[in-house]
Amino acid sequence: MPLSYAPLQSVIDSTTVNSSVELSLLRLDLFSPLLSGNKYFKLKYNLQRAKKMGFKQIISFGGQYSNHIHALAQAGKETGLATIGLIRGEQQHVLNETLSDAVNCGMTLRFVSRSEYRQRNIPIYIESLKAEYPDAYFIPEGGSNILGVKGCMEIVDHINFHLKGDYDFIVLACGTAATLAGIAAATPEKKIIGFSVLKNATYLENSVSGYLKKMAVTGCNNWQILHGYHCGGYAKINVELANFIHRFVTYHEIPIEPVYTGKMLYGLYQILARGEIPVGSKVVAVHTGGLQGLRGMENLLARKLSSTM
Ligand SMILES: *Cc1c(COP(=O)(O)O)cnc(C)c1O
Repeated sequence: MPLSYAPLQSVIDSTTVNSSVELSLLRLDLFSPLLSGNKYFKLKYNLQRAKKMGFKQIISFGGQYSNHIHALAQAGKETGLATIGLIRGEQQHVLNETLSDAVNCGMTLRFVSRSEYRQRNIPIYIESLKAEYPDAYFIPEGGSNILGVKGCMEIVDHINFHLKGDYDFIVLACGTAATLAGIAAATPEKKIIGFSVLKNATYLENSVSGYLKKMAVTGCNNWQILHGYHCGGYAKINVELANFIHRFVTYHEIPIEPVYTGKMLYGLYQILARGEIPVGSKVVAVHTGGLQGLRGMENLLARKLSSTM
C-alpha cells in the first residue's frame, strides 16, 4: 500500500544557505514501496483504463535498466494483469537485477534489436505489434502518454498537502518531460524548471506543448527546460556528477541515483550557486525515484569518483 502522501524533506547546506533559498525534496521514492517514484503516477490511469476496457495484458517498452519496466512488472503482479516487456538490445547471458525482478513479478520479456527498438513510437510499427498482440493494452516507453501526464498532475497534491501552495518553484528531471507537463498543467501559478537528462533533447519543449494542448491547457508559460546539465548524455556520468552525488549523499543521507534525480540536483545546485534563483524563493525539488537502477551503476560511480583521487 502506498503512503497517503509522499514525505517532504527540508534540505539545508552551504549552497542553500549562501543562495538564501529554502529547498525541500518531495520524496516520491518513499511514496509507494513497490512502484517507485513518478512511475506510480504515470501508470495509475493507464492501468485503470486497461482494466476498464477489459484488457488482460499490458505491453510496453524499456531499456535493460528501465524504471518503467520495473514498475510495470510490479503493477502487473499487484493488479493481476499480465505484462510483456519489449526490451532494447540483446539478451545478456545472465539477466540483470532490474530484469530478473521483472521476471519474478511474472513479466514476459522479449528482446528487440536496437534498430527495431528505435521504431517504438512509429505508428506502423505499433500497429504491427497490436496485430501480433491483439489482447494487449499498449503503454509507450516511460509510461509517457496523456493518461501518464494526467496521473502526474497529482504529484502537485503531494506538495500542497505539506506546503498549502506556499512555494515558488518546482524542479525535476526530464526524460520525456511527461511528468513536467503534468506538474505544469496542475500549477499554472508556479514556476517549473526541468533538467533534461538527455543530450540535445531539444524536442522536449514541443512534447510538453503537445501534451498541454491535448489536455486543453492554454496559456501555460510557467515552465522551462534547461539543457546544459546532461553530463554527456542519457545515463552518462562524468567526474563532476559522481563527486556531487557522493557529497550530497554523504552529507544529507538521502539516496539519489545519477540518471535522473542526481543530475537534476547537480544542475539545481549550479544555478543556486550562480544566484539564478531569486533570494528568498521556496523551491521544491522532486525526487522521482529510480533507486532500483542504482544497482547497475554503483561500480561505475565509484570508478568515476576514484579517478579524481
Ligand atoms: C522515468 C523517470 C524520469 C523521467 O520522467 P519523464 O516523465 O519521462 O520526464 C525521471 N526520474 C526517474 C527516476 C524516472 O524513472
